[in-house]
Amino acid sequence: MDKVFNYISRRREEAIQLVRSLVSIRTVNPPGENYEKIINLLDKKCRQAGLATKRMPVPGAKGRVCLLADWNIGAKKTLHINGHYDVVPCAGGWHSQPFKPFLSDGKIYGRGTEDMKGGIACYIMAVSALKKYKILPKCNLQFSFTPDEETGGSTGFGYLVKKGLIKADYGIGEGYSGAYVSCGNKGVIWLNVEIKGRPAHGSSPYKGVNSFEGMVAASNELIKLNEKISKRKTSYMTQDEKDRLATMVLGGAAWGPEKVNIVPACAGFSIDRRFLPEENINNVKKEIFESINKVKRKIKGLKINIKILNEQDSAVSKTNPAFFGCFRKGIKEVLNKDAKFAIMAGATDMRFLMAKGTPCLGYAPQGEGRWHADDEYVSVKSLIDTTKVFAYMFENFGE
Ligand SMILES: [Zn+2]
Repeated sequence: MDKVFNYISRRREEAIQLVRSLVSIRTVNPPGENYEKIINLLDKKCRQAGLATKRMPVPGAKGRVCLLADWNIGAKKTLHINGHYDVVPCAGGWHSQPFKPFLSDGKIYGRGTEDMKGGIACYIMAVSALKKYKILPKCNLQFSFTPDEETGGSTGFGYLVKKGLIKADYGIGEGYSGAYVSCGNKGVIWLNVEIKGRPAHGSSPYKGVNSFEGMVAASNELIKLNEKISKRKTSYMTQDEKDRLATMVLGGAAWGPEKVNIVPACAGFSIDRRFLPEENINNVKKEIFESINKVKRKIKGLKINIKILNEQDSAVSKTNPAFFGCFRKGIKEVLNKDAKFAIMAGATDMRFLMAKGTPCLGYAPQGEGRWHADDEYVSVKSLIDTTKVFAYMFENFGE
């Protein structure tokens, strides 16, 4: 491995350049811009690295194109490696131009450097390094570069998995970095609670039904529920120990009329519930609904409508000692650290494969782990180290 590792260390400038050219293409989603442009670049880079590419448009989803890049050695098993090329929009707090990436103090700043164009660059650099020394992987490698992860993934990686268009006996995607490797994620449910009463003038409140009071009552029930929920702890490891707990956030969004002299007829608030792999998604919903329904019974004339905005079940990779073990050895070799397999608070596209029972791990070069934040960056040292870990996996993993 030494010559491969040394080669990767010497390609520092090339790695930086590759990240820069990927980040310069503004693939902001929503709405999903410049997808064709980045597919052209990725297609070219993959072919230069010696992979056989194939474009796959997503039917019914305008402008959505996936790229498959194969290194088929005729082995029985295939290791599938995925990267999403879309990035989230930028808020106003940037100190630099998010799509004009620049290097400062060993960090490349720009939107998508950490999530996850840096990771995509690592994949391509790792393949180039093996090709350079004519080293064959131990199983077939198949890469996919997909759109729309940031808006749920069903018109990207989710489409490829559901239609059976990829080969994947094992999967690698985005995830933790350094000594941490992700092996799953918590589930998430977003809801809006809409409360309708009856309007009246402030001077004759007996004619109305106060939706605000209904909202407060519902919130109080949910705060009680939250005390119960927040004692639940997953048996899986997480990078931040606090992420082991189940959580619920109330009122990330809240609304109602803004007038003093009325009985408010409509009010509402949102719920963001993150649940553990050990919790059942239907029970999670049931608990919330039951808490809110208590209020319906208490206040006459109140209508409460609960709207589910988004729900995604938790996902945990099937354990595979050979696959996990090889990753562990790679991290030991490159970073001299003991790998920790942990679940993430947020979901990635790998959940589509995990749901099929495919062993999947997530790993990526490191920034600050503040995905979607202003001044996003990736560390160049981590970019090089992560490329080495992938090169180690590609060379050594296989049955
Ligand atoms: Zn991502």
